[in-house]
Amino acid sequence: MSLERHSEKSAHRDCEICGGKAAFSAFHAKGLNEGDPAFRVIRCPDCGYGWIDPSPADHEIGRWYPKEYYGKENVRFNKVFELLTRWFRRRRASEVARRVAVGRVLDVGCGRGLILGTLKEMGFESHGVELSEDSAWHAKNKMGAIMHVGPFVETKLEPESFEAIIFWHSLEHFRDPVAALKHAHKLLKKGGLLVVAVPNSDSLQAKVFRSDWFHLDVPRHYVHFGSRSLELLLDGAGFKIETATHFCFEQNPYGWLQSAYNALEMEWNLLYTILKNRSARMTSVREHPFQAILIMALLPVLLPMSLVMTLVEAAFRQGGTIETYSFKE
Ligand SMILES: [Zn+2]
Repeated sequence: MSLERHSEKSAHRDCEICGGKAAFSAFHAKGLNEGDPAFRVIRCPDCGYGWIDPSPADHEIGRWYPKEYYGKENVRFNKVFELLTRWFRRRRASEVARRVAVGRVLDVGCGRGLILGTLKEMGFESHGVELSEDSAWHAKNKMGAIMHVGPFVETKLEPESFEAIIFWHSLEHFRDPVAALKHAHKLLKKGGLLVVAVPNSDSLQAKVFRSDWFHLDVPRHYVHFGSRSLELLLDGAGFKIETATHFCFEQNPYGWLQSAYNALEMEWNLLYTILKNRSARMTSVREHPFQAILIMALLPVLLPMSLVMTLVEAAFRQGGTIETYSFKE
């Protein structure tokens, strides 16, 4: 690994998680769009926390969240994958339900709100936070969640009123995750549950693929966690970790698979586009017929490998994503 010492002053800042001062430039990320600036991932050697430089301004970031990011009527995948993702969400809802009493639950960055819909069926009062009316539409109108639109730390919610707060792959989209977790701490009842799932930048797949790693997702992911930095963050915000799991069937095999295609210089995330839905599939196959065939031809080899590697990395506690369950002390 070539780890050039980070010298440019413009990006210098102390680590927000551990206070370390010796951040370095870990690598350059690949742009998502034509004409993207050359984003770098800066990392703290003490706790492993990472952040991107330059960091797009609030008024610019919308450029990396096109309408398709949420899908038509917020439906993102073809039927088979829709069923699979619904099954995953049910699993997530039951992980919450078996740890807390039925009451108010809040999903920060809830997207389509499927987990909120499931929790509502289980008797919970489901609340969600999204940044825009567009992205909140499905959770509100199809899932029946009570939606709060705007930045999470500015939401006017009653302190100490929630049984559980969920950040399912949303904390890495925050500029200031410390402030986000402090706000969550304020809103939770004593003994309340905090669920945080994030990509693991210390994972085996992150180390193997670096800038080709699917879960890197720069610049949408402003900040990057590993085991150590996530533990420090949770601890610093007043949470006690009950469980931190490195095996996530929903996220990790796909991380290996898509990253392998990215490393083979396939059109960026073409497999993801093919899996998405018919219109996305037809367009992408027409534009890249040879690559689409190659992707499908390699699938019988790469898919089993991805499943095996998911077990291997979990065994070494270096899973592609980490899922944590913590309680407010
Ligand atoms: Zn640090």
